[in-house]
Amino acid sequence: MLSLRVKLTLYYLAILSAVLIFFGFAIYAYLSRSLLWTIDYSLATQAQAIVQRMVTEVGAEVGSAGHSVSPHEEHHSDQLLFAPQVVQVIDGRGRITDETLSRVAHSIPINLEKLNQLGNNQDLFETFRLESGEEFRVVARRSQDAEGSTYFVRLGQSLAPLQQARRRLLFILLITIPAALLLGSYGGLVLANQALRPVDRITRAAERIGTGDLSERVPLPTKMDELGRLAATFNNMIARLEAAFERQRQFTSDASHELRTPLAVLRGDIEIALRRDRTPEEYKRVLTSSLEEIIRLSRLVEDLLTLARADIGQAALRCEPVSLEDLCQQMVDYISPLVQQQEQKLIYQAPRSPIIINGDLQRLKQLLLNLLDNAIKYTDKGGIITLGLKTAGDEAVLTVADTGRGIAPEDLPHIFERFYRHSHSSSEKGVTGFGLGLAIVKWIVDSHGGKIEVSSEPGKGAIFTLRFPLLNS
Ligand code: ADP
Repeated sequence: MLSLRVKLTLYYLAILSAVLIFFGFAIYAYLSRSLLWTIDYSLATQAQAIVQRMVTEVGAEVGSAGHSVSPHEEHHSDQLLFAPQVVQVIDGRGRITDETLSRVAHSIPINLEKLNQLGNNQDLFETFRLESGEEFRVVARRSQDAEGSTYFVRLGQSLAPLQQARRRLLFILLITIPAALLLGSYGGLVLANQALRPVDRITRAAERIGTGDLSERVPLPTKMDELGRLAATFNNMIARLEAAFERQRQFTSDASHELRTPLAVLRGDIEIALRRDRTPEEYKRVLTSSLEEIIRLSRLVEDLLTLARADIGQAALRCEPVSLEDLCQQMVDYISPLVQQQEQKLIYQAPRSPIIINGDLQRLKQLLLNLLDNAIKYTDKGGIITLGLKTAGDEAVLTVADTGRGIAPEDLPHIFERFYRHSHSSSEKGVTGFGLGLAIVKWIVDSHGGKIEVSSEPGKGAIFTLRFPLLNS
């Protein structure tokens, strides 16, 4: 498995070599073509000049004294870049009638068929490779003598300089391209190393975190580029994980603590009762208090289970249309005997029309029970508990208010936390709880897409306000 830096370097190299090879080819082709064009242009111009000259001289000869037609003239033209090395005059049957002295003239084949296809003022360009490997560029042009018979003028130019230039360029390219690739691969590796260094740091930190040290953080780079953002996101994730782990740890330790105390009391009571024989009344008293403790413990275990399931997302709601009005009435009927027992008063402010929300009936019952139970618990005799239900816009608004001792401002931000209890709660007579009720209420409200608020004036009471989205609103 190739490492990312090697892969990056290879990609980079592949692109670089493609670009270099493409440009190498382009330069090579362009140089060859443009040199050939220059030679062709020069040859064509000279062939044209020679033909012109021969025609003029033939005309002059016809009108005056005899003068042989010869291509051995000096052709002065500023445009002539290359002096042709071969100049031939070929007659209509493909025989050379005149030519410059040249070592190669006879080695250049004559293709009469192609020559005959030439029109007037047309140039035929051909490249011939001699046995020596040398290339010749040849241009042929058609003309006619005084008697009207066809002849061809052929000019040839050695391509040796061009071939040499091409060879040199190829040589230079073959040296420079691999050298550039070598340098490029080194540069690519250095770049990839530099770019991936922060990733290495993140990986090392992640490994340390993986071994259990959640307090570890990835060092943030100075620039907030992609990797900077990755490191920041990673740190945020670890911070959330750490907080979740810490909550879980706290929850487990609080839960065990809460379970231990009542179990110890239970065990102590039973052990003392068993030390000697007791009267049936004494046994009954111990059994009754044990039963109370067991009921309390069962509630705690039930609450713990609800929250643990909620944490792992297993406490799915079974939602259906729920009439909050009916539910509130049910809860009022259910709780009234307890309120009377506490010598308190319960007022239910029922809505004028039915209020339906999409919810889990059992969970909503649990929610109301927890809130009303708290209101009763934390309100003295003669206090008033008010349950209100109404709509506001597209929301159902449920309020549970009491005239009890209220909540201290410093407690307000924490009362929905698990196991959070007002410091005096546990010492208060008759007030029994584990600090899980409101945590469960909050979870139920949240999972119904609702909101919960609490306001309180210490000594005067507390008001819990809950809002739920109305069904089909
Ligand atoms: P528990 O009632 O079992 O202690 P809760 O989660 O229901 O746990 O409540 C957390 C804390 O919030 C309580 O200990 C209490 O101090 C405070 N609290 C809740 N409801 C009220 C209320 N109606 N009036 C005054 N204090 C309250």
